[in-house]
Amino acid sequence: MERSTLYNLEPLNLNNAYIESIGSYVERIAVLHNITTGTLLSKIISPILDKKYINNINLKGGDGFYKGSNAIAGFGTTANDFRNAMEVLTTRGDLVKTTLINQGPMLTFRGLLRNKKAWCPECLETMVEVDKEEVYFPLLWNIELFSICPKHRIKLEDKCRNCNGEMNILSRTSIPGYCSRCLNWLGSKAKIEGLDTIYNPQKEYEIRKSLFAEELIALGIENNNQPFTREDVIKGLNGVVHNIFNNNIRKAANELGFKETTFRYWVKGKNLPGLDAVAKMCLTFNISLKQFLNVNISSSDILYININVEEARQINNKYDHIFISKILQKVINDNLFISIKRLADYIGCDRTLLTKIYPEECKIIIEENKKFMSTKKIKRLKQKFDELDTAFFHTIKIDEFPSVRQLEKKLGKNFLKEKELRERFNNLRNLYL
Ligand SMILES: [Zn+2]
Ligand SMILES: [Zn+2]
Repeated sequence: MERSTLYNLEPLNLNNAYIESIGSYVERIAVLHNITTGTLLSKIISPILDKKYINNINLKGGDGFYKGSNAIAGFGTTANDFRNAMEVLTTRGDLVKTTLINQGPMLTFRGLLRNKKAWCPECLETMVEVDKEEVYFPLLWNIELFSICPKHRIKLEDKCRNCNGEMNILSRTSIPGYCSRCLNWLGSKAKIEGLDTIYNPQKEYEIRKSLFAEELIALGIENNNQPFTREDVIKGLNGVVHNIFNNNIRKAANELGFKETTFRYWVKGKNLPGLDAVAKMCLTFNISLKQFLNVNISSSDILYININVEEARQINNKYDHIFISKILQKVINDNLFISIKRLADYIGCDRTLLTKIYPEECKIIIEENKKFMSTKKIKRLKQKFDELDTAFFHTIKIDEFPSVRQLEKKLGKNFLKEKELRERFNNLRNLYL
């Protein structure tokens, strides 16, 4: 049997839409071999790649490869070369699924991939806390269209909460789940229970886009050897024009909100519509990508158009203030006790935007949260006082001297470090010794 240079590691979630991305795969391989991602790239992977990459990776301070490393998850030359190199090194034949190569024939590069890493903090937290599984980044997080995690209904994050830095898809020091700049853990409990009941058309639309991206990944896995092609997309588009708009190209372009000249190029097959345009059509008619590609669409689907086009128009506002004020009211009415910072993270806007535009609401929320935090602290202290008292009297009872060391042996290291506990401890000693 042929021995592989690198471990023959299986990509996570190999056969569903949440398959691991090639970038995450490379990072996990590096960890497994106890080397940095940078060493893996420059010493092991680049000798197999084309010469221009070697130069890019090895040149002093040459960050060219890292800056453009988002391309490895795509379907172009970089993705193909990189995938080939990794398959040679691991002797695996299925790494194509960790990229968009299978879906490539029906895609355009424009607006497809994010430049920087993005992640759902709640997903990362769940991998560790609940599923006790290995931390990884799904390929979906590389796709621009996938902006809200449908599982947790929160926005993906792309800046480290600790250092505010952005990260390239690969970097010399990257480790799955950690900031490559400050090594901060990127997972967190970002979801806020109780806020998700507020209907927000913009958010619902974004979630449907994410689900569309899921379908795209699933299609690539399903049709591993017979991927859909450019012609399928053109046929699908013509199906829409024919079956729904009675071959009236102008009407189709207008109703769907595309520039007529651009749309005509698509219909003729001279240009390929981007993934966002295909998503818009599928979402407007409420059909799956597969239905679109198989021209499985009829004029009865037109029922959906008015509702969805109206929704789509609302999407263009950067911040939906009706939604934001509803959220703030809910936080106040339901006593959700939350900091403005967390609320801003949840909404996906800046903290100062909230305090500037909604000063009254923010004032109430800040006050209430302060009160809540202080009662929470009192409750916690009461419990700790009880623990301390019990340990203190027990120590005396068994004729031992209640020293800091003796008590912390029972209560845990640094238990008496907190100001209030130290004070109570001193009081107990003054009273009973
Ligand atoms: Zn999630
Ligand atoms: Zn950081």
